[in-house]
Amino acid sequence: MSEDASWVLTYEGFEPEKERLREALCTLGNGYFCTRGAGPWTSADEIHYPGTYAAGLYNRLPTEIAGREIVNEDLVNLPNWLCLEVRLHDENDWFDLSRVELLDYRQELDLKRGLLIRRIRCRDPQGRETRLNLQQFVHMQRRHLAAVQLSLVPENWAGRIRIRAALDGRVENKGVARYRSLNSKHLEPIESAADSERILLRVRTSQSRVEIVQCARTRVYIDDSECAAAWHPIEESGYVAEELDCEVEAGQRVRVEKTVALCTSRDRGISESGLAARKQLARAAGFARMLAEHAQAWEGLWRRCDIKLVPDSHPQLVLRLHVFHMLQTASPNTIDLDTGVPARGLHGEAYRGHIFWDELFVLPWMTLRLPDVTRSFLLYRFRRLDEARWNAREAGFRGAMFPWQSASDGREETQEIHLNPKSGRWIADRSRLQRHVNAAIAYNVWFYVQATQDRSFLSFYGAEMIFEIARFWASLARFDPKLDRYEIRGVMGPDEYHDGYPGSDEPGLANNAYTNVMVAWVCWRALDTLDMLDEVRRQALRDRLGITAEEIETWDAMSRKMRLFIGDDGVIRQFEGYDELAELDWDDYRQRYGNIQRLDRILEAEGDDPNRYKLSKQADVLMLLYLFSVGELRRLLERLGYPLDDEAIRRNVAYYMPRTSEGSTLSRIVHAWLLARIDRNRSWDVFREALESDISDVQGGTTAEGVHLGAMGGTVDIIQRCYTGLEARDDALFFHPNLPEHMHSVSQRFRYRGHWLDVRVHRDELEIEAAKGPAAPVKIGFDGEIHTLAGGDALRIKIGARPKSQGDD
Ligand code: BGC
Repeated sequence: MSEDASWVLTYEGFEPEKERLREALCTLGNGYFCTRGAGPWTSADEIHYPGTYAAGLYNRLPTEIAGREIVNEDLVNLPNWLCLEVRLHDENDWFDLSRVELLDYRQELDLKRGLLIRRIRCRDPQGRETRLNLQQFVHMQRRHLAAVQLSLVPENWAGRIRIRAALDGRVENKGVARYRSLNSKHLEPIESAADSERILLRVRTSQSRVEIVQCARTRVYIDDSECAAAWHPIEESGYVAEELDCEVEAGQRVRVEKTVALCTSRDRGISESGLAARKQLARAAGFARMLAEHAQAWEGLWRRCDIKLVPDSHPQLVLRLHVFHMLQTASPNTIDLDTGVPARGLHGEAYRGHIFWDELFVLPWMTLRLPDVTRSFLLYRFRRLDEARWNAREAGFRGAMFPWQSASDGREETQEIHLNPKSGRWIADRSRLQRHVNAAIAYNVWFYVQATQDRSFLSFYGAEMIFEIARFWASLARFDPKLDRYEIRGVMGPDEYHDGYPGSDEPGLANNAYTNVMVAWVCWRALDTLDMLDEVRRQALRDRLGITAEEIETWDAMSRKMRLFIGDDGVIRQFEGYDELAELDWDDYRQRYGNIQRLDRILEAEGDDPNRYKLSKQADVLMLLYLFSVGELRRLLERLGYPLDDEAIRRNVAYYMPRTSEGSTLSRIVHAWLLARIDRNRSWDVFREALESDISDVQGGTTAEGVHLGAMGGTVDIIQRCYTGLEARDDALFFHPNLPEHMHSVSQRFRYRGHWLDVRVHRDELEIEAAKGPAAPVKIGFDGEIHTLAGGDALRIKIGARPKSQGDD
């Protein structure tokens, strides 16, 4: 693959049935807002779904369903700013791909520059041939700006052209078919204004009362001279447009530049959103200059965030696509925003833009590249700590219970019923019982502190979250003196196909292994956190939170006595009673249904219940081996009094993988990760499958509703941490490279404890170079030895031989 090809996602030809998928994959954004990669002439219909979403901008709406009122909070689809239409040669109809014969159609997403390009040649029914080139971007440097440029050349005709540039606030949240029976009108019109300089649209979300202002300027050039086009404004409720007319000769190039500023009443450092948007627009340069600034910002980001594989093949392109979408959802522009990591990016409306545990798969990558962005995501959780305390109290617990699905104010946003599109039935949704999200938050805090040594964050925010989460677990767990063990009942693990015992009305399961081990880990880390705080802060926090010596003893006891069920075969049982479940006839289901990823829907539609079977939607027990190295997990289990022998990974993987339907894109990440330790080639195959999750839409339609950010982060992290064997623990950065046969080397740059580390892992050598800088030396662990690396130092270690420092040959 050529260097350029691994930077460009290319589509040849227009395929209406794939258009929504392409729109999601070609989304453009800057961490403040994102816009799906729809053509500027489109509006929401069966084929297209243009959508614009701003980080953290939600609205709540009630709907009456199945006789009761339910309330949903959604990431709001904001006014469509892209709209740029053209009417050729006094036709009645506006340009539309369905009305012309396409002679050429090529769409390119240039990842290096963050630019979406469409090159079109078409012929209309009268034989007029036209060449069009469209380019659009959302400014990475100046986060309120975006632009679209249309170039048009009439190849064999001359005549009048009408251009219409609009801001359309009549849009609704209609991107997900399953949600169509829910209320979806979130925007109220406030102001539509047009003058010859600009058009302006102001709308407001109906419940959260956020004002959104978009302001646009359109300029027309013929062969690069600005053209004084005749101008007509259109001002309607929730919609504003300007129409421009000009005459064009055959072979002349008409270029239309539309520049847009988007501001909201949530922005900081402004007087008023309308004023801010006008100011942003007035200060915006022309298209070419803005594009150059924008491309420069991307260049800077890629310098920090690119991962280079040798050989440079298809996985390289997909990895870059994944990094690209993570950076569009969260970038330095996100740092001062109050937003979390939405599971489906800012790329569509699935899961309503909610925030789950998926950040567990995104933040390790983010932390080692853009630690300030991770910090801001952790602060999103911290700001909702009081709400989490309230959630815990309402449910009869102590401490803080973060919700399974979070959005604006941190209350539980998980729906109570959901639609099974296969049976048409609304069924109870118990997924909020996935209390393990709390362990994920503690894990993210811990990883961030390990990688950055940000003690001030730990002191003022992180420690309080860890203590309150440990406290929550302690109030949820019950001690059985006969067994001398703690137990947790009434929860769900990551596998969402099990939400209770067959035939029982009581929700949840007992002693989910993943949850219980994570609880032991959190409690242990709470003890470490106490040790890491300085005396003054420790006392202050203990006083303020009322942490008693007895409570600390309980955490210690829980880190040693959580209950697990492990068979004689060494397989950790997913939960208590797992052995009693029936085996599913997988072949039969595969034969009858083909795709059985969503076995829950299939079984429910058959009148059956997934709770009856030994099956999983996604990795559950195996998550433990994903989050912890074998050594760490062994230490954890030994502390709990359960030995983990060398064969355990193999046996657990061999048991659970064939019983997992991969109903979540997160699952393959975990499986590829684990296989790397026991079967590198198979790991590479599963990794390749995981890479295809979005680009090939392996779930058959879900990517069009928003990308899977967890899977994107997870695949990048497999290269970042798994194949390099990177671990940030015990105040050192450890490497244990294990590249698959198909990879000769991987190069990446990490931010670790104030250093920039250029790390190249070859099959036989590990090279680490630290850029010069003032940060204190760091420790690098390899093959049982610890090396100290200061700014300006380099380390070269032969893999399989003794390590050596540069210069000591
Ligand atoms: C998965 C969850 C995940 C959620 C959001 C679900 O299908 O089972 O683990 O958090 O999607 O991505």
